[in-house]
Parts: sequence; structure tokens; C-alpha cells
Amino acid sequence: MNTGLFVQLIVAVFFLGVLIILIVALSKTKKKTRVLNSVEILADELDRHKKENLHLREELRRIASVDNLFFASMIRLTSRLNPEEIAKEIKDLLINCLDPKGTAVFLADQRNKRLTVVAHQGLNDNWLPKLVYELDNKNRMGKVGVSFNEKHTITRHEFAILGLSEPFPVFEPDVCYPIFFQKKRFGVIAIIRKKDLDEREKNLLGVVASIAGVALNNTRSFADITSTAHTDPLTKIYNIGYFKELMISELERSKRFQHHLSVSIIDLDKFKEYNDTYGHQAGDHLLIQLARIFEKHFAETDTVARYGGDEFIVMCPEIKKQEAARIIGNLLHDLEMYDFTRGTEEIKVTFSAGVSSYPDDATSTVELIRLADAALYEAKGAGRNTVKVYRPKIEKI
Ligand code: GH3
Ligand code: MG
Repeated sequence: MNTGLFVQLIVAVFFLGVLIILIVALSKTKKKTRVLNSVEILADELDRHKKENLHLREELRRIASVDNLFFASMIRLTSRLNPEEIAKEIKDLLINCLDPKGTAVFLADQRNKRLTVVAHQGLNDNWLPKLVYELDNKNRMGKVGVSFNEKHTITRHEFAILGLSEPFPVFEPDVCYPIFFQKKRFGVIAIIRKKDLDEREKNLLGVVASIAGVALNNTRSFADITSTAHTDPLTKIYNIGYFKELMISELERSKRFQHHLSVSIIDLDKFKEYNDTYGHQAGDHLLIQLARIFEKHFAETDTVARYGGDEFIVMCPEIKKQEAARIIGNLLHDLEMYDFTRGTEEIKVTFSAGVSSYPDDATSTVELIRLADAALYEAKGAGRNTVKVYRPKIEKI
């Protein structure tokens, strides 16, 4: 073989070797870069997941705290027995859960004639006295009045379909939820929002309005039961049970502030005869008439109750015995001016009364009532149509 060719072969083999080494090295570097890239991507991914996880945890915590607030508000709402407090709870609950631009809770008066704002957020206080929806004027009812009357949720869209307009330009709610329970309507929750309510928020408002209806119904039932328990069914003034409760606290107050407290028992004269002559129904009517007269005669700080039968009882705080006797005497005198005629017959209604007082006669309610009764007995014995103050008998030795 010639030497030149041999050298050429050697050089060619050398370059081929170098080329192979270069290719192998290059492919290794590429692999390394690829691995490095994958690691970076994975790290990025991991970082993203971490952030997402943190965000989700935050969101969960937020939802949990909103839920806690919601349930706590719901519990407070259902445990309140005062309509104003319930309205305030509704308002606070909606601020926490809905973030409204404005909220107004309207409650109806006893006869469902008008709706007034009882709790609100985001409204100008100066508007409130004017924001009264008269429910017998169809043209001035607005969404609030329509929602109340129809017991229906009213949105802007539904209101527009009805072709009605808002009576107050300063207050244009976006949605109104009625507060009712069965047939009884109580009020309306009006909301002003920047954006439409989503499904979750609509459900939440529905639940809040329903629970508010139950809570307000409870307050009304509670008020009815309390009033029935305290009232004499015939005359509608306090009964003796409640009178005694009031007297206990009034006597404590008198002791604390060193005031007098006078108690008088009034018993109609010859009421049996009245019943026998004119009938039991006429007797009932007279008792009712007298209860109204007595209520009018005494001061607001005094308390009148029906003791039972034809007897009434009155307590006058901060009034001495003689002064109380004078007030009862005036009442007896005033009765002459009232018209108790039956048909053409003029009837004279009189009573006898006995008065006792703290601290002159006794220091307990039971004893004060007993001594007023003893004085009344004396008044009857003295010929009726008179008032006697209690005087302790001087024991003869
Ligand atoms: P006196 O002057 O001694 O008090 O005679 P009186 O006839 O008023 O006798 P008394 O006070 O003892 O009797 C009260 C009567 O009141 C007895 C009963 O017939 C009548 N009475 C009690 N409760 C009612 C009631 O709710 N309605 C009516 N119409 N009468 C009643
Ligand atoms: Mg009598």
C-alpha cells in the first residue's frame, strides 16, 4: 500500500472518530438540557399548585367565616322577640352575606296600612321619614308595596312589566323580598345592588325572608299570649295577677326611693240589684263602661286593674293616702256626670272604696291589699257611696 494513501486513511479515521465523539457529546448535552427544562416546568407547576392551594384554603376559610356569621345571625334572628331587633338582625346579616349597596327592612303597622323603614344601611337618614309606603294607594306602592301586597319577590324586570313607577326617586330598590308567614304579612326586605343576584344569593335571601317571617310571627304570638295573660277578658284592663306583679316591683321602687305608694279597692254598690233589674249583659256593659272611665280618670303612672266581680283595684305611686282618697272621691263625684240611663230611666251608679298606703300602714303588697279591703268594708258599713282610708284600730285595754 502506498504511504500517502495510508496517511489519508489514518486522517479520515481520526476525523470520523472526532465526529462520533462530537455527536455523542452533543446528544448528551441536549438530553441534559431537556431534563433541566422538565425540572423547571415541574417546579413551576408545583409553585402554581401551591399558590392555588393557598388560595383555595383562603376561600374555604372565608366561606366558613361567612357561614358562621350566617348561622350566628340566623340563631340571633330567631331568638329575638322584638320586631325592631329582628329587622336589625336581617340588615346585619345581609350586609355580611350579600355586600349590598343599600338595604332597607320595612315593617307594616298593626293594620297593614303602611310600611316604614325599621332598619337600613346605605340610605340617607333624612329620607327615612318620607319613605312611607301607603298600602291603600295603588299608584304609590312601588316595588316595596307590591311585594308586600302580593307576597311575591319583585325585581326591576317584573316591576317594569307591571308598568308601575317608584313613588320615591331617592329610593329605587333592585329587588324586594316579602316577609310573611302563612296568611300574615309583616314587611319587606328591599335591596340595592351593583350587580344582579346569583342563584346562591337569591336562595339566601329567600331563606332569610322566610326565617324572618317565622321570627316576626313568634313575636306577635308572644305579644298576644302575654297580653291575654295580663288582661281581664271582659274589661280589657289588667287582671289582678298582673296587677300584683306590677305592685311588687312598684313597692320595691317605693322602698328604694322612699316614696309613698297608695292602693285603693273600689267595689260597686248594689251591683247584684243592677244585674237583677237590667240583666247580666247590661251588668257586663256597665263594667266595661266603668273600666274606660277609671282608665281616663287616673294618671298614666297609676295602674288600674279588675280585682274580680264588681271590684277594681288601683295603685298610685308617690301619692299619700289622703291624696289617693281625694282622687278616688273625685272619681265618685264625677260618676254623677256620666250618662248611665237605660231607655228613659236615669240610673245612679256609685261605689265604695278603701285606701291603704306604704309606708303608713304596711310594708308588703299582701298586707296593703288586705288593709285597703278592710277600709272598703268600713265604707260599705258606713252606708256605701263613700271612700275610707285605713285607720288602725286602737285596741281597748
Ligand atoms: P254591695 O253594695 O254590698 O257591694 O252589693 P253588691 O250587690 O254589689 O254585692 P257584691 O259586690 O257582693 O256582689 C257583686 C255581684 O257582681 C255579684 C255578681 O252577680 C256580680 N258580678 C260578678 N262578676 C260579674 C260579671 O262579670 N258580670 C256581671 N254582669 N256581674 C257580675
Ligand atoms: Mg258590690
